[in-house]
Amino acid sequence: MPEGDSVWRAAAQLHAALAGHQLTDTDFRVPRFATLNLAGWKVNEVVARGKHLLIRLQGPAEERLTIHSHLKMEGAWQIYPPGGRWRKPGFTARCVLRTAAADAVGFSLGILEVVRTADESTVVGHLGPDLLGPDWDVVEAERRLLAEPEVPIGVALLDQRKLAGIGNIYRCEACFLAGVHPAWPVSAVADLSALMADAKQLLEANLGPGRRTTVLNARGVPVGRAAGRPGYWVYRRDKQPCLKCGTPIRRGVLAKAAGTEERDIYFCPTCQPLTPPA
Ligand SMILES: [Zn+2]
Repeated sequence: MPEGDSVWRAAAQLHAALAGHQLTDTDFRVPRFATLNLAGWKVNEVVARGKHLLIRLQGPAEERLTIHSHLKMEGAWQIYPPGGRWRKPGFTARCVLRTAAADAVGFSLGILEVVRTADESTVVGHLGPDLLGPDWDVVEAERRLLAEPEVPIGVALLDQRKLAGIGNIYRCEACFLAGVHPAWPVSAVADLSALMADAKQLLEANLGPGRRTTVLNARGVPVGRAAGRPGYWVYRRDKQPCLKCGTPIRRGVLAKAAGTEERDIYFCPTCQPLTPPA
């Protein structure tokens, strides 16, 4: 599953290519919308909500529709010059949006549907506060996390209903920076807001064209790719030495919970002991 930052970058690229332009042709390659043609509609904006992409359109008679897509594991939106040759196989294309200036093609999309813009809440209304959103609300996110205090923090961080935007990479990295084992119950994490602040900084550090820059968090710890260091503190670094203490990083799995996908966790057994402090 992509992290929220990659979805935000995709939204920014689609917005730059499509916003303000009129669609000259559309092709929805899913049965439910196969006959839909939105030629003549104008793209107002493209925004990300958590890991969901919303392409907002305005019709000839001022109607408003939203193309809602989700990248899931394999999905991607790509932008080409008009008629340009695609870099992915045509049979994986699910949505083609053409303007006079560009073709936008969504490949292997996990979700593709068209809803009335007024009804967007039916597709993204379940999401918790968005770490990258203008309406980020740390108090509400903490409330949602603490509503199920016994859930492992590593599971809760991936539950987009509690807070939106974190994928497996930053779940692992944020737990490491907080000195928290991903299996600890939410209630054992002493400072949830600091952990979320680190996750937010990790996501933000990867948003712009200068992604992977070093950023110091409020506690003076570099987040994101530090100069001269490997890309991550723990993610996919199993058997390699911890960058803080030298203990070999371990890989494990957390039990699957509703609304989340089971993914590997990476942690330092010294910096993130399995047993929380009493
Ligand atoms: Zn360590």
